[in-house]
Amino acid sequence: MKLNWLIGLLVLLPLSVKAEPKVVLVSIDGMRWQEVFAGADPALYQQPEWVKTPELIRAFTPGKAELLMPFLHNTVKQQGISVGDRTQGSSINVSNSYQISYPGYQELLAGFADPAIRSNHKIANPNVTVLEWLNQQPQLQHKVAAFGSWELFPYILNTERSGLTVNAGFMPEQGKLSEKQQYLNQLQAKTPSPFATVRLDVFTQEFALEHLRLHKPKLLYIALGEADDFAHLGQYDQYLAAIHRSDQFIADLWQELQNDPYYRDQTTLLISTDHGRGEAAQWRSHGKAAAVPGYKGPKPQIAGSEQVWLAAIGPGIPAAGLIRTTQNWQQGQMAATIAAALGFDYLAAQPKAAPAFDFSAAIQLAVSDRVQVEDRQGL
Ligand SMILES: [Zn+2]
Repeated sequence: MKLNWLIGLLVLLPLSVKAEPKVVLVSIDGMRWQEVFAGADPALYQQPEWVKTPELIRAFTPGKAELLMPFLHNTVKQQGISVGDRTQGSSINVSNSYQISYPGYQELLAGFADPAIRSNHKIANPNVTVLEWLNQQPQLQHKVAAFGSWELFPYILNTERSGLTVNAGFMPEQGKLSEKQQYLNQLQAKTPSPFATVRLDVFTQEFALEHLRLHKPKLLYIALGEADDFAHLGQYDQYLAAIHRSDQFIADLWQELQNDPYYRDQTTLLISTDHGRGEAAQWRSHGKAAAVPGYKGPKPQIAGSEQVWLAAIGPGIPAAGLIRTTQNWQQGQMAATIAAALGFDYLAAQPKAAPAFDFSAAIQLAVSDRVQVEDRQGL
């Protein structure tokens, strides 16, 4: 009897590991909501001016977003939420006036727009981001890490002050390294990037995954960069291919999280961007003249650059699909949302931050809408 009880206890022990919330945030730099929700843009797809290699994107039929981002549409939108499809009454904007990357990441990660951050210059961020603040909490100390393709992230996250683990740009991994990290360092050093300040996303992705396996962070931020840079080069085919690879990476990441008992069913995955970009022939660019100190030429004000999007999946995220927003949701709400998913109140520490997204209020809206639609159908 006693022995049976003991055996029973031993069998149960591995199951009784306490669930602890974790968060993974992935951003895709400069990815437009238009492609997120409608796939390839018919105005740009197969235009010789923007597309040099049509075979590369032949599979991404315009209007079929699930072909471009299968994981986002077949998994995240089914089991979680998405916001930003303007054609369906869903929107989220940046509130910063500049609509370029550093001001966008400041807003996304600190929770508010700082008018003093108006360029992409390498300036150490005077503001504390939610990553830095969470890393100061005893439960999360040394359990926060960020990997970025753009070399600005050590400045945006102010690693000098924050002491955060950040690997970005062309930085090799440092310290005691696994064989895989050593090999990635070698490959990275030998692989040319088409961009001066941004490495190819595959290195960011692989470094991040290896860090996840070795160090089990509770908050991991992965900032992908290729999409924006290919867009600036005017290469719509490469822009779409980069987006498709980003979606594939997020699918692999989610699979890896669900295969690991440390993360399974206790990890919130948030996906977003730093800014939108223009429409039609202006798709390559984004931002406002105010973002360029000393700019004297015609105002490069690219309409649509303020329009962003988000998607989320995980415990506490309702399976509400596309959320129709009643008021403008703001990029800055992400910071408090990250903290809330980990059980922390960011606004208590940073009153300037926007409140967390209220996904439960949104589902109420969705349900009442559905009832109204059913009522109408009943009539
Ligand atoms: Zn850009």
